[in-house]
Amino acid sequence: MRMDQTNSPEFDIIVIGAGPAGSAAASRAARHGATVALVDKASFPRTKLCGGLFTERSHQTYCKVFDRQFDFSHAVTRREIEFWHDNKCLSSLPDVPPMHLTMRIDLDKRLFTHAIEDGAHDFSGKSIASLDGTDVTFRDGCTIRGRVLIGADGVNSITARALFGAPFDKSTIGFGLEVEVAPDEQIPTEQPLRVDFGAANWGYGWSFPKQGSTTVGVGGLLNSNPDMKGQFSTYLKAQGLDHDPRRFKGHYLPFGDFRVVPGRGAVLLAGDAAGLVDPITGEGIALAMESGHLAARAALDAINASAPETALDRYQVALKDMHRSLRIARGIRRIVFAPGWQQTFVGAFRRSGTLRTQYLQLLAGQVEYPELARNMLRRLPRLVVNRLGGHRF
Ligand SMILES: Cc1cc2nc3c(=O)[nH]c(=O)nc-3n(C[C@H](O)[C@H](O)[C@H](O)COP(=O)(O)OP(=O)(O)OC[C@H]3O[C@@H](n4cnc5c(N)ncnc54)[C@H](O)[C@@H]3O)c2cc1C
Repeated sequence: MRMDQTNSPEFDIIVIGAGPAGSAAASRAARHGATVALVDKASFPRTKLCGGLFTERSHQTYCKVFDRQFDFSHAVTRREIEFWHDNKCLSSLPDVPPMHLTMRIDLDKRLFTHAIEDGAHDFSGKSIASLDGTDVTFRDGCTIRGRVLIGADGVNSITARALFGAPFDKSTIGFGLEVEVAPDEQIPTEQPLRVDFGAANWGYGWSFPKQGSTTVGVGGLLNSNPDMKGQFSTYLKAQGLDHDPRRFKGHYLPFGDFRVVPGRGAVLLAGDAAGLVDPITGEGIALAMESGHLAARAALDAINASAPETALDRYQVALKDMHRSLRIARGIRRIVFAPGWQQTFVGAFRRSGTLRTQYLQLLAGQVEYPELARNMLRRLPRLVVNRLGGHRF
């Protein structure tokens, strides 16, 4: 850290947001010798509304990005999953790739701690008053300056708002609702994971049993679910649960509506701030860590080339594969979730062991969307292919 003439601290990289994306970016950049300020309005530990499913894809990404082994002592690992539709079990799979269930209050505290241990300067618990390019001014009047700024400040990103006028597009955003169900309320915590297609329009429901409670939720496109609270109540009742809707917690989910241009010049967006959530599974933790890592790499390369303003160009090249996968996933989403097609998908999902296996391999990071799309197109009835209107993957 240096000081400029006005005595403001100067950093190579300022990261706003210390969730999975921001902590990954800060850890990577600090380990590679950059001076990094890691800013968050919250102090850690803090909660984040999330199912907390930490897939094998997330696990592999974590090991690569943080250069550490994952400590499973705060997670529950399950290998059984059930898929449901319309209150009927489509399939119960007893031995699937491991799925780890975490509480975000623990997980995010650990990721934040890694970044600080790796050398990032701790600016948590500080509210931002304004952004000016790559400079950040706090409400206490202090300003810090960066050569590159990484906005990893979640779906309501102030960095995206500063660049583009709004953090996301309300017409395409997703939304999720959750409750934590205590074991004495109904769902025993040794149950398998459960995923319910059709619990929300253009989305699904989930029940993730953890150590002391089960996280139950529904999520889908906001526009297609004008009464998501009502749908969630119905979903809970179908599982024998009767919760006061005032206990529901909600959060936006950038469900596949990623920013094609995730930043400007020396300002980059990562994770939810860049809309990087899988449009089918709703998984965001792995993509957040991966994009934070790529943003840090692009920032370091730009700084080393004495051209911080080239950070976005470098980042866009690095994101190419992820963007391609998300585009393909959005195409597949039209088969999985569109109301007119869902029966066809559900029928194929019930019959085809390969389709089910590939869905799980996707979560496990063993298969990517281009391959999954090719397989689905081979298996789904010709009718669906025709209804795709010649869309090619
Ligand atoms: C209901 C629901 C269930 C989900 N379930 C899963 C799941 O089971 N598995 C999965 O992989 N993904 C899941 N997701 C998606 C996942 O939660 C996100 O994709 C992931 O948290 C994105 O990480 P991030 O670091 O980009 O943002 P976040 O985790 O949101 O972190 C952003 C950080 O920025 C900070 N911040 C925000 N604004 C400011 C500001 N103005 N100034 C300073 N700091 C700021 C916040 O305090 C926060 O620490 C779910 C999402 C929802 C809504």
